[in-house]
Amino acid sequence: MRKPKIVILGAGYGGLMTTVRLQKSLGVNEADVVLVNKNGYHYETTWLHEASAGTLQPDRVRYEISSVVDKNKVDFIQDTAVEIKTAEKVVKLENGEVSYDYLVVALGAESETFGIQGLKEHAFSISNLNSARQIREHIEYQFATYNTEEEKKDERLSIVVGGAGFTGIEFLGELANRIPELCKEYDVDFHKVRVMCVEAAPTVLPGFDPELVNYAVSYLEKKGVEFKIGTAIKGCTPEGIIVAKGENEVEEIKAATVIWAAGVRGSSIIEASGIEAMRGRVKVNPDLRAPDHDDIFILGDCCLIINEEINRPYPPTAQIAMQEGEVCAKNLTALIRNEEKLEAFTPDIKGTVCSLGEDDAIGVAFGRKMVGKKASFMKKMIDNRALYMIGGPSMVVKKGKFNIL
Ligand code: FAD
Ligand code: NAD
Repeated sequence: MRKPKIVILGAGYGGLMTTVRLQKSLGVNEADVVLVNKNGYHYETTWLHEASAGTLQPDRVRYEISSVVDKNKVDFIQDTAVEIKTAEKVVKLENGEVSYDYLVVALGAESETFGIQGLKEHAFSISNLNSARQIREHIEYQFATYNTEEEKKDERLSIVVGGAGFTGIEFLGELANRIPELCKEYDVDFHKVRVMCVEAAPTVLPGFDPELVNYAVSYLEKKGVEFKIGTAIKGCTPEGIIVAKGENEVEEIKAATVIWAAGVRGSSIIEASGIEAMRGRVKVNPDLRAPDHDDIFILGDCCLIINEEINRPYPPTAQIAMQEGEVCAKNLTALIRNEEKLEAFTPDIKGTVCSLGEDDAIGVAFGRKMVGKKASFMKKMIDNRALYMIGGPSMVVKKGKFNIL
C-alpha cells in the first residue's frame, strides 16, 4: 500500500518543530515525510537583529538542518517553494515539484511596506540571514567610507529605524552597543553618528506595559538613540526618509541607512496559490488547517488566530509557531492513523521579553515584570529553550547563549 506523503514547507520554528516531532511520533512505514527549505540551514529568526547590527556573527545564528533531521525518516529538499497547486496537491519549486497528501505551510514572514513609496527600493528589512548580513555590511561600508571622502557627508553616519515595535527596539539595543565599536574601528567621532527611531503610534512598543516602555526609552536615549514618535514614515528615497509633519506638510530626514521594521506579513506564496488570506496570513480552523483545505496546515507567521479575549489576532511569534508545530505534528499523526479527533490549538503565552542589547532587557514572564540583567538572563534562557526544543541539549551546547553575567 502506498504510504501517505507529508510535505513541510519551511524549516523555521514552525516547520522544524513539526518535523522533529513527526520523526519521533511516526514510524518509517507509516508515512513519507519531506521537508523543503530554501537553504540547507535553519536560522534563528529571533536573533536576526543581532546579526544585522553586527553584534553576533551570522554563523552563530544558523545551524545545518541535517544536524536535527533524521535522514532515515525525513527527505530534505533544498529548494524554494513558488506556488501550491491545491487542486493537484503539488508544490511547484524553483527546480522541480513535489506532490503531497498533507501539506504544512510554515514559510515565515515577509516585510510589509503597505505600499509606501520607495521603501522596497531604498530601505532594508530584517527578514532573513542574507538581509541581516546586507544591513551589517552596508552600515560598516558607510563608516569605512566616511573618512575617505574629501567632503564629509554626515548622513553616511545617520541610521533611521522605522517602527518601534519589538523588532525595531531590539535592533536599536544592539546598534547602541555596536556604534561605539564601529566609531573606534573606523576612526569616527561618536558625536557625528545619529541613530533615530521613527514610530507612527504615540508611544514606543504600542500596547506594552508603560513602565517597561519608559525603561527601554530612557535606556536607549542614554546610549544616544533619538525617538520621533507619533510620526509616520510616508516615503523613502536614496537620500533618506519622508515623514508626515502636521496635517499637510512633510519633512525629509537624511540618512544613508534606513531599516524598515514597521510591519510583517505572511508569505506571498499563499496568495499566489489562491488560498484565502489577509496579508499572507490564513485564518485557520482550530486544528490549524486552512478553511476548505483539509489537507493543508498553516503555521507560524503565515497563520492567523484570533485572541477571543481581546478580539484581535495573536501576534506572530516564535513562541506560538513552535507550539503550533507540536500540535500540527500530533494532528498529522492522528490523520495518518485514521483517528477522527484532532487537537484544537490554544496558544500558551508564557510572556514577552524584549532585549536591549546583550546585557539588558525588559519583559513580562510568568506574570512578573522584569528589567535589566534579570530580564536579559530570561531572554537568553528563552533563546536557549528554542534551541533545546528543536535540537536537544547538544544544540544548546553548540549554539546556546552562555554569556550570562
Ligand atoms: P521562520 O522561523 O521565520 O521560518 C521560515 C522558514 O521558511 C525559513 O527557514 C525560510 O528560509 C523558509 N522559507 C521562506 N520562504 C521560503 C520558500 N519560498 N521556499 C522554501 N523555504 C522558504 N518571536 C518571539 O516569540 N520571541 C522573540 O524574541 C522574537 N524576536 C524576533 C526578533 C526579530 C529580529 C524578528 C524579525 C522576529 C522575532 N520574533 C520573535 C518573531 C519570530 O521570529 C517569528 O514569529 C517566527 O520566526 C515565525 O516562525 P515561522 O516558522 O513561521 O517562520
Ligand atoms: P510590529 O507590527 O509589532 O511593529 C511595527 C511598528 O511599526 C508598530 O509600532 C507600528 O505602529 C509602527 N509603524 C507602522 N507603520 C509605520 C510608519 N509608516 N511609520 C512609522 N512607524 C510605523 O512589527 P515587529 O516589531 O516587526 O514585530 C513583528 C512580530 O514579531 C510581532 O508579533 C512581535 O511580537 C514579534 N517579535 C517579538 C519579539 C520579542 O518577543 N522579543 C521581538 C521581535 C519581534
